[in-house]
Amino acid sequence: MNKHILIVGGGYVGLYTALRLQRKLGRELRNGEASITIIDPQSYMTYQPFLPEAAAGNLSPRHMVAPLRRVLPKVRILNGTVTEVDHAARVATFQPAEGEARKVSYDVIVMAAGSISRTLPIPGLTDIGIGFKTVGEAIALRNRVLHLLDVAESTDDPEVRRRALTFVVVGAGFAGVEALAELEDMAKDSTRYYRNLTPADIRWVLVEATNRVLPEVGPEMGRWTLEQLRERGIEVKLDTRLESCVGGHVVLSDGSEFEADTLVWTAGVKPSVVANSTDLPLDERGRIKATAALTVAGTRDAFTAGDIAGVPDVTNPGQYCAPNAQHAVRQAKVLADNIIRYLRGEQLVDYRHKYVGSVAGLGLHQGVANVYGVKLRGFPAWFMHRTYHLSRVPTLNRKVRVVVDWTLALFFKRETISLGEVEHPRDGFRAAVATMRH
Ligand SMILES: Cc1cc2nc3c(=O)[nH]c(=O)nc-3n(C[C@H](O)[C@H](O)[C@H](O)COP(=O)(O)OP(=O)(O)OC[C@H]3O[C@@H](n4cnc5c(N)ncnc54)[C@H](O)[C@@H]3O)c2cc1C
Repeated sequence: MNKHILIVGGGYVGLYTALRLQRKLGRELRNGEASITIIDPQSYMTYQPFLPEAAAGNLSPRHMVAPLRRVLPKVRILNGTVTEVDHAARVATFQPAEGEARKVSYDVIVMAAGSISRTLPIPGLTDIGIGFKTVGEAIALRNRVLHLLDVAESTDDPEVRRRALTFVVVGAGFAGVEALAELEDMAKDSTRYYRNLTPADIRWVLVEATNRVLPEVGPEMGRWTLEQLRERGIEVKLDTRLESCVGGHVVLSDGSEFEADTLVWTAGVKPSVVANSTDLPLDERGRIKATAALTVAGTRDAFTAGDIAGVPDVTNPGQYCAPNAQHAVRQAKVLADNIIRYLRGEQLVDYRHKYVGSVAGLGLHQGVANVYGVKLRGFPAWFMHRTYHLSRVPTLNRKVRVVVDWTLALFFKRETISLGEVEHPRDGFRAAVATMRH
């Protein structure tokens, strides 16, 4: 009998689970005893730790994604979203990119839809706020920063210039700090091509509600990172919250107010919305309740892992695994093996991994790391950051492309062109149509 395994989400957990199942269930997939489907809005998996480098122009955005159909030839890929899961009936509702929603039945489901930005009801946030979780956001941000340098260079109005050159990042975890550090580095580098711009003209503000930055690398290296950022002229405002940003008028809880055209929101993540549209149990933070064996608590035929799941950390009783790639990749391996054990009626094993610390890039040749208690800063940390992520990026094909990008960057200056017009490709044509005589 064919066992249909449905994987909701083709990110870290989805891709790595499917890769392992594809390899280990080769015979079953061939003779029709098993089949695998991944549903994801995108046709590729995004290697998120490379988003800051892609935003800074050190990496081509195409090289930091793994195309699902190419990497998973034995898996059916459906593009669209799962909007509902009726696990009691073993049916998911699939909304394709175009056309009517339809039902997809399954025997085993893997909930791997990850997380979305955790936003707050702050006035104006939807006016100028942008997240930093997708390739689209990273590249739009890159285009925006470069475009605003062009705006600042070309205006005579000091207010327009000041506003264009003020960039705010809210949230000082690795997404926020890396995004800010890489973009600041790129903007600084780019000023050499402008007549009326110097690095000192550009204002970068990092707003953090707690009293520390980059908790992922521990308190000591976090303090070092803070000093580094401040030495670079970045205003880091700790114990400060964004109160409002209506129309770009930014108001912070420390009383400061200023105008900014760009605000990047990286203040944490929450489970993907599909978690709320299932009959699966949720924990107190809205994540799908997982067991240590990565099954959904209290159910049969359902597995989960990654950012969408509340996975107990057996190395730290009473705590949950943090939402990061370090856990997601390792969980996917155990999850895939547990599905195979489950199908064969064998005993499942628990996921066990002690967090080993983190590495972060802070711009070209700058980084910070705290891994297995080894603390590095500056160039060695940056080198470690690159080699570690290179070893982790999926497929040899992508690894080679990433190395080629980095090697080219050694010999040529980085590209500092804003291709923002790709976001409005029809504007020129529409303007031409508007000139038509009737
Ligand atoms: C900028 C940035 C830098 C990071 N750097 C690091 C780092 O250095 N180290 C580290 O350990 N971690 C890092 N992380 C965190 C890491 O990327 C995540 O923890 C990891 O991606 C989680 O994997 P996941 O499979 O749970 O989710 P994802 O990889 O986000 O995959 C979820 C997938 O589900 C899809 N999806 C969502 N909703 C639906 C739906 N309704 N139906 C179908 N599909 C859906 C999404 O399109 C996505 O493809 C970083 C994150 C960011 C944003």
